[in-house]
Amino acid sequence: MTTLLDGKSLAASLERESSARVAALKSRNGGTTPILATILVGDDPSSATYVKMKGNACRRVGMASHAIRLSASSTTDDVLAEINRLNADPLVQGILLQHPVPAHVDERACFDRISVSKDVDGVTSCGFGLMALGERAFGSATPAGIMQLLRHYGIDVSGMRAVIVGRSPILGKPMALMLSNANATVTLCHSKTLNLADEIRRAHIVVGAVGEPNFIRGEWISDGAVVVDAGYHVGGVGDVDPDGLLGRCAALTPVPGGVGPMTISTLISQTVTAAERALVQIGKQVEKLPTGRTTYRVEQDHIP
Ligand code: NAP
Repeated sequence: MTTLLDGKSLAASLERESSARVAALKSRNGGTTPILATILVGDDPSSATYVKMKGNACRRVGMASHAIRLSASSTTDDVLAEINRLNADPLVQGILLQHPVPAHVDERACFDRISVSKDVDGVTSCGFGLMALGERAFGSATPAGIMQLLRHYGIDVSGMRAVIVGRSPILGKPMALMLSNANATVTLCHSKTLNLADEIRRAHIVVGAVGEPNFIRGEWISDGAVVVDAGYHVGGVGDVDPDGLLGRCAALTPVPGGVGPMTISTLISQTVTAAERALVQIGKQVEKLPTGRTTYRVEQDHIP
């Protein structure tokens, strides 16, 4: 029997949790609403849709979304200036720079300008390094959401042979490190991997993060494996061809309704965590103030 890893219903329950946490935050914080700032550079319609979905999710949990749109002709410096402004704004707890940015913009420089404490999408080099070392940091939202989904269904990856197909900085690579930190034995495959089918055949857990519809063939996957499909393509197709897998693999993420909804709910939940930490930080600084002083400075560059 195959367990369907229902990301849609887990994401809905995570959102309910986030709503309760946001309500508690507002009541402790004089009604101030936590804000996720999103930056969209250019007018790619898919990116615009993703940003809109993230804004809608903020509103569903009672948070505000501050959507910044920069023209396609914006330079790296324009984007950096916007990020500097958001880093310095104590009312903004999370910053999301929608990926990909236009080719002439230095995406890595822009990601790395985001304060680690506000890096709720887990895109900075510093956040990545901390996560890799098992230190406190917000993980990249998609792999962090996948880890939550596996935990929720009681799938203990410890000792499992995990094969990830795809090594992008936002998905495959952080996925490999998160699985390794959870004691899986990890193989990270990519476009130069030899005998990919053989690698996949040995896996107890397969993560499809290639970006090619139905690229991973069902027959490459062993009986009893756990299959996580992070891909999403037009027509609701993933990176793994599900033909013949149902009933044969132990668990499978449906497309749609598996990994996708977990990404957004993880981003939201990480933003709520950032807001909770900022409030604690403010509390600590207010405690230290001499009586009578009413201003405080929010430390933005502390590690989350
Ligand atoms: P990406 O940046 O394009 O990376 C694709 C990776 O796949 C690269 O590492 C590439 O290898 C590897 N690859 C390409 N062709 C291959 C081949 N023939 N054999 C083995 N590996 C191959 O993609 P991404 O941003 O990580 O996205 C991957 C998929 O996840 C896409 O379908 C995307 O839509 C989906 N996604 C979903 C979410 C979500 O929220 N659900 C979020 C992010 C991404 P090289 O490194 O050697 O080039």
